[in-house]
Amino acid sequence: MSAGVLYVVATPIGNLEDITLRALRILGEVSLIAAEDTRAARHLLDHHRVAAPKIVSCFEGNEAERTAEIVRRVAEGERVALVSEAGTPGISDPGTRVIAAARAAGLRVEVIPGAAAVVAALVGSGLPTDRFTFVGFPPRHEGPRQELFGSLRATPGTLVFYEAPGRVGETLADLAAALGSDRPAQVARELTKLYEERIDGTLGALAERYATEAPRGECVVLVSGATLQPAEIDLEAEVRARLAKGEGPKEIAAALALATGRRRRDIYQLAVALRGSRI
Ligand code: SAM
Repeated sequence: MSAGVLYVVATPIGNLEDITLRALRILGEVSLIAAEDTRAARHLLDHHRVAAPKIVSCFEGNEAERTAEIVRRVAEGERVALVSEAGTPGISDPGTRVIAAARAAGLRVEVIPGAAAVVAALVGSGLPTDRFTFVGFPPRHEGPRQELFGSLRATPGTLVFYEAPGRVGETLADLAAALGSDRPAQVARELTKLYEERIDGTLGALAERYATEAPRGECVVLVSGATLQPAEIDLEAEVRARLAKGEGPKEIAAALALATGRRRRDIYQLAVALRGSRI
């Protein structure tokens, strides 16, 4: 293994002070920073008076070719830092491809943990944190969107979505239709920033509130987990929805046994039978 390291460095999600001492030291020491947004990286480094090394862009459009360059440099012994525009790389941001390639090449990858909107939103929401599902940005096309929302109906634990402000109203309305308009939910807005706020309500009430006027700034949508009694869950419909999503019988049996309290083996057999009947 070479002495090179790929550092995956979390940066703030708003408040520039939300960065660790270790992250600042590493960013000042590496020979190269690969940044999703070079201006944002430069702004952060200037704010903390860190003398910037070379910064190159690494975003969705050039991640493939940049990956080869980063892997080569780390393999040759360089220490390279990867940062996204905000928060933790790889969390609804580029990074996964570079990280996977570095690991596949047997290179050392170290994460410098820090801010991620999903954690800040969840922890301050007051909703249960012992189990949660991070969904990220929901699909925009109707088919995959409905399939995803339908498959979340019986999912226990808090659901966490990222959404663009202009789409929050529509997403809340679609979630209300799929999960029930009475489900408790929250919109967490502008976390760590001047106008940070959390608006609580049911999915129905929040959908109404944002139907005509989009919230300003960055938003996370949180939804209380399923409270369906096991007997209320339409097992066959849930299995079908999950099969359509590409889940396998084993995975389905594990998830739905937890949600329904029914026997894992029975659900597995049902999933195998339904999968067979789809062909
Ligand atoms: N990598 C980031 C992370 O670790 O959270 C996420 C980047 S993703 C492209 C941007 C989305 O994250 C926004 O659309 C919003 O849903 C959420 N987000 C980021 N910063 C936020 C903030 N300060 N307040 C609320 N949501 C935020």
